[in-house]
Amino acid sequence: MIPFSAPRIDQLVVDEVTHTLRSGWIGTGPKTKLFEKKLSEYYGAKATLCLNSATAGLETMLRWYGVGVGDEVILSAYTFAATANVIIHCGATPVFVDVEEDFNISPQKIAAAITTKTKVVIPVDFAGFPANYTDIFSVVIDAKNAFIPTNLIQEELGRILVISDSAHALGATYNGIKIGTQADAMVFSFHASKNLTTAEGGAIALNLPEPFDNEAIYKTLCIQTLHGQTKDAYAKALQHSWKYDVIEAGYKYNMPDLSASIGLVELARYDAETLPKRKQIFDFYTEYFEGFDWAQLPVVKTTQSETSYHIYALRIKGITEEQRDEITRHIIAAGVLVNVHFMPVPALTYYKNLGYNVADYPVAYDNYSREISLPVFYDLTDEQMQTVARVVVNCVEQIVKP
Ligand SMILES: *Cc1c(COP(=O)(O)O)cnc(C)c1O
Repeated sequence: MIPFSAPRIDQLVVDEVTHTLRSGWIGTGPKTKLFEKKLSEYYGAKATLCLNSATAGLETMLRWYGVGVGDEVILSAYTFAATANVIIHCGATPVFVDVEEDFNISPQKIAAAITTKTKVVIPVDFAGFPANYTDIFSVVIDAKNAFIPTNLIQEELGRILVISDSAHALGATYNGIKIGTQADAMVFSFHASKNLTTAEGGAIALNLPEPFDNEAIYKTLCIQTLHGQTKDAYAKALQHSWKYDVIEAGYKYNMPDLSASIGLVELARYDAETLPKRKQIFDFYTEYFEGFDWAQLPVVKTTQSETSYHIYALRIKGITEEQRDEITRHIIAAGVLVNVHFMPVPALTYYKNLGYNVADYPVAYDNYSREISLPVFYDLTDEQMQTVARVVVNCVEQIVKP
């Protein structure tokens, strides 16, 4: 079987993790703090908070902004359920918006979905290709007059907060600048299947505009994501002082140093090794499929944006969802593990039961119904790439050209 994705675990990772295991400190401590600093340097954000997942990061930002019952949060219909679930956790209402042909949320449709209850917009950088931040911000600024703040932080910002779900997008660029500074807060995932992994993990890049103090927000979020404690365990140990207070019923979302160790190794070689290898795989698939008239290739680069080469989202022209499912069954039976990203969230049972209907998001449904994600990971060999491409062509042509 050719796997869909596999983390790159080599001696460097094993050595760094072993170093942490033997250091006497495996929980949140110096390596997590160093990883946060390196991430901020990497994408140029004012501050970065590492947590145990991107899901935790998204929810933390919604809670920081005071999102709750009666509020609406606009998000892309084309995402993983995490983006919507965190809105439900807060008691707010998800307002799904359809996407464009590039799988990313439509700024015009955001404008149409904004009401006086809208508090946050969450675009997704699908497959690592950046959302249209320029247009999203102009829509949000245009809607300033309709914004009704219900707490001091909302009053200070005076508009809808933009939190990106950049789970896929570490290393992508927008106007030549790395993804990490284009929205008020940008949330990355380091789940085992993502471009850069810490086994489980995530990060929030903070870029709140003046007069917000991002360093101060970082400190607040550290407390809010660790039981509301005024000191974390590492600070207690460093200061030889056990005494602390709890100032709110906070969450338990911290990233351990064990995870950060993997992240430090991964980040140090990310631009020099990981991204070029992923690009090479994308380029190979694109060259291979270009000659087939049934193949709709993913957009990876425009004058404005370049992807992080996370998901190779191939679409097959003119097929139905059933045909796509049959093609993927054949591909998997032939030994290549492919995936589909994503079933639009309104099509999932929980959200259907809340009254959402995927028919209201026709572009999302069309993209989904014809999409197949191909294997992309560091250790994928040239021979395996050849096999993937050959198997995909065989299986598609069996179905589309009977
Ligand atoms: C993976 C993923 C998430 C969740 O990331 P976790 O770190 O597992 O919480 C959120 N959104 C998208 C689009 C994802 O692909």
